[in-house]
Amino acid sequence: MKTIKLFGILLLTAMTAFSTVSCGDDDDKTLRPSGSGSGGSGTAAVSSCPDNNHPHAVDLGLPSGTKWACCNVGERTPVGIGLFFAWGETTGYALGSGHKFNWGNYKWCVGSDRDKITKYNIDSWRFDNPYYDGKTRLESADDAAHVNWGGSWKTPNDTQMQELLDNTTHKSTIVNGVKGRLMTSTKNGKRIFLPCTTETTNYMTSDLYGVTSYACKYIGVGYGVESSVIRTEILHSFTDRFNPFLVRPVR
Ligand SMILES: [Zn+2]
Repeated sequence: MKTIKLFGILLLTAMTAFSTVSCGDDDDKTLRPSGSGSGGSGTAAVSSCPDNNHPHAVDLGLPSGTKWACCNVGERTPVGIGLFFAWGETTGYALGSGHKFNWGNYKWCVGSDRDKITKYNIDSWRFDNPYYDGKTRLESADDAAHVNWGGSWKTPNDTQMQELLDNTTHKSTIVNGVKGRLMTSTKNGKRIFLPCTTETTNYMTSDLYGVTSYACKYIGVGYGVESSVIRTEILHSFTDRFNPFLVRPVR
């Protein structure tokens, strides 16, 4: 397992989930209201948008030329949370929907049997595995960004996530009651805002392995000013793929 640069190096040791292509009886995640608002007007300060016709592709001057959307999939405002998706699914669910994210409800799993992931299955070691396909990167048909927004929009890969971090400054802020992370380009000063809803909010990447999430971590209360802010960092997150992720498209 390798470490990655971030602001702070963080390495999750729970490799069992994403690293074994298997379903399981892990705790499911039910979407419940978090108290975060859904955003609205007055967001110009946090996103370099030319008008209110979101989404826009914001040019942060990144070396690869990648442009980041100004809002999440399921949203039409830069500070809205949007919808939550399981990795490899294209139907999203809102906070408060009550949708349960678990293996039993996961599109690419037969029943709730952890041995029966039916796509993006890399368990070549499993004897006579009928579902092995060796796929580790989202195909367009399973990419929530591409399917929901069309065109050349797609879910970022881990390299694009890292490039965003490497070329922006990051500041925690609250906009219209929504906590999140303001990412300001060190290249041209353009901005995007990544809203966060819970301490475990993750942004999906197209990669099944490697860097798989762009997480928002609330710092625990009781530590002074810092208690109300959020850190954002790329995690080597091997969290189960059925979990709810936000999606911030790139193109
Ligand atoms: Zn916009």
